[in-house]
Amino acid sequence: MSATNGRAAATDPAAVRLAGLIGEADSVVALTGAGISVPSGSPDFRSPGTGLWANVNPMEVAHIDAFHRDPQKFWSFYGQRFQTLGDKRPNRAHAALVALERTGRLDAVITQNIDRLHERAGTQSLVEVHGSIAHSSCLVCGLRYELEAVRALHEGAADGVPRCDCGAPLKPGVVLFGEYLPVQALARAEALAAGADLMLCIGSSLEVYPVAQLPETTLSNGGQIAILTQGRTPLDRHAAVRLSGDVVDELDAVLDALGLVIPEAPPPAP
Ligand code: ZN
Repeated sequence: MSATNGRAAATDPAAVRLAGLIGEADSVVALTGAGISVPSGSPDFRSPGTGLWANVNPMEVAHIDAFHRDPQKFWSFYGQRFQTLGDKRPNRAHAALVALERTGRLDAVITQNIDRLHERAGTQSLVEVHGSIAHSSCLVCGLRYELEAVRALHEGAADGVPRCDCGAPLKPGVVLFGEYLPVQALARAEALAAGADLMLCIGSSLEVYPVAQLPETTLSNGGQIAILTQGRTPLDRHAAVRLSGDVVDELDAVLDALGLVIPEAPPPAP
């Protein structure tokens, strides 16, 4: 046994049950939301009165219309978001999914998160349905800029707006309010959901469509879902296993029941 966190992991019957389902399934897919990044210090923007969204209306500052109408105001908010998210590190929950993937127990991670922490943790098969802060693009000439370059441009710009060589403001590679989800990523996510025997829904309230539809796709194709999320979700009564404790503790217990150890998070990529 490898109860590395001192928890009596193997005595948690729900975690043992989930480990059994993972072991039996031919295809396991994870769907992750903001809750998996909370142990990394990322604010859960749904929590009232906390984090970056406490004093702003996201529809005003993180909407595609706001980007077009007033790039300076948009970037005064989004630049702060880039700085905050860019410094976060993957946590043990991200690492647990890497361990499952490396041992052939997890086919892919679909994430609503834009913080690229799955990528930095080492997940290979990753679908970022809301995009990511990893790059920003020019909507005029199509040039892409990496996060570090965008941060430098943001800091160096007199008006705080990172601009392309052509002069146009850069747009984060994140799906803003008022934008469609990337078609290819969504199609891949839907195919994964349809083919999964088991979907692990981790740290997502399962309320934001169309992503919230993915577990329903798994269910309607004969698969099962497990929900590891604090707080209720609309699909709780359909879950084969429902875990509602701390996401790191719960995944620790599941991996322990599988005889796996969560590796220490690798150092972040430069
Ligand atoms: Zn350009």
